[in-house]
Amino acid sequence: MSELEQRILKFLQDRDWDQLHPSDHAKSISIEASELLEHFQWSHETIQELAANPEKHAKVSGELADIMIYCLQMAILNNIDWQAEVTKKLDKIENKYPAEVFKTRQKAAGDSTYWEVKNAARKKSQSEE
Ligand SMILES: [Mg+2]
Repeated sequence: MSELEQRILKFLQDRDWDQLHPSDHAKSISIEASELLEHFQWSHETIQELAANPEKHAKVSGELADIMIYCLQMAILNNIDWQAEVTKKLDKIENKYPAEVFKTRQKAAGDSTYWEVKNAARKKSQSEE
């Protein structure tokens, strides 16, 4: 367990929060994700525009940290090897969304490539069931 994970576990144990149910963390992740989304309600900043707004950037960073902390808490308490799971998922999505298909695609509104690829993957997984 990394130093950061040990610190998170101690934080939970010191408060007797290490007995929280998985649903408590799942709900908290969703709530914090909504708080993150609230910062983008009615706005559509680019990466560069967000970086140019230090106050908003700090608020967004804080919400992202809230989400990540809850994710790590849930993984630690439920004995989920999050690094292995992230690696597995990256392997899967690297195959599902091939760089050669998406790299050169125009970012035009209405580009249906994402949905075409996603629906093809869904059909494939259904046929394998
Ligand atoms: Mg928050």
